[in-house]
Amino acid sequence: MFVGARRARPCSLRCTTIASMSKTAHLDLPIRFGTVGTPLSTPKSGGSAGGVQRIRELSLSALELAWVQSVRISDEACAKIRAAAEEHDVAISVHAPYYINLNADAESWATGRERLLAAARAGYKAGATDIVFHPGSYMKATPADAYRVSRDRLAEVTDTLRAEGINVILRPETMGKSAMLGTLEEVIAWSQEVENVLPCVDFAHLHARAGDGSFNTYEEFTAALRQIAEGLGERGLKQMHIHFSGIAYTAKGEKHHLNLAEADIDYKAFFRALADMGVVGRVLCETPNLEEDAVLMQNTYRQAWAKAVRKAAQG
Ligand SMILES: [Zn+2]
Repeated sequence: MFVGARRARPCSLRCTTIASMSKTAHLDLPIRFGTVGTPLSTPKSGGSAGGVQRIRELSLSALELAWVQSVRISDEACAKIRAAAEEHDVAISVHAPYYINLNADAESWATGRERLLAAARAGYKAGATDIVFHPGSYMKATPADAYRVSRDRLAEVTDTLRAEGINVILRPETMGKSAMLGTLEEVIAWSQEVENVLPCVDFAHLHARAGDGSFNTYEEFTAALRQIAEGLGERGLKQMHIHFSGIAYTAKGEKHHLNLAEADIDYKAFFRALADMGVVGRVLCETPNLEEDAVLMQNTYRQAWAKAVRKAAQG
């Protein structure tokens, strides 16, 4: 904690100078762009704090810490990430471990719950505001029963975090396979029913989940955004957390992520939809070539956004 505070103070002055001199990519855009996991071009010795700096050098402004196997990080390392994020004005989120299932049997849920709590506690120390996680699978339950069990467990976890003073938003993610919890409807409903919960909308997963090539047009993307606005009100679109990538899939859903250039996903239509619908928030890239595509996403969005602004000005 102290390390972070000590480093942050002198830097806030320096930051102002840097910000006024350099072109700050995000300051003029309603959406911050970044990567899930440190950029591939981060120097080996840099760690996650080095990743934060690398994000800034790339003119990006968000980083999701990929704690997808386990949460093993010291308080000192968290403080370093937090200080770097403040210095470089990079928004931090955490991707919690994969092995969490809100609908698991009591024993597995006990360990999943600890993993989710650990990600939130350490993430908060590292300056994260949002904790993304995969909600789990239906197992043998009906979707309605799985939804209810998950909702109650989610509410208990957010109560626990609130009691500990850990001020983060939990973000269940839309998932790419039909056997998994995490339809757009489910993540919206959890967000309606549980305080401090909002969706992480992975649009590539929704495209793969459909499994037939659908959910890949401007109209379908804007319809999903409208559905979010109807379910959650204005804040639904003004505080968005988005994962995006190309994706390979079968009729059953997701196989693996692909680079934008090698995938069928209509990313230009997608970023046009975000711009036209006035979305505010973050987009995190998950393609294999990571930061290269994050920059491509930001550039594509910037053009769409400039066009939307011009159109609005003309009335
Ligand atoms: Zn994920």
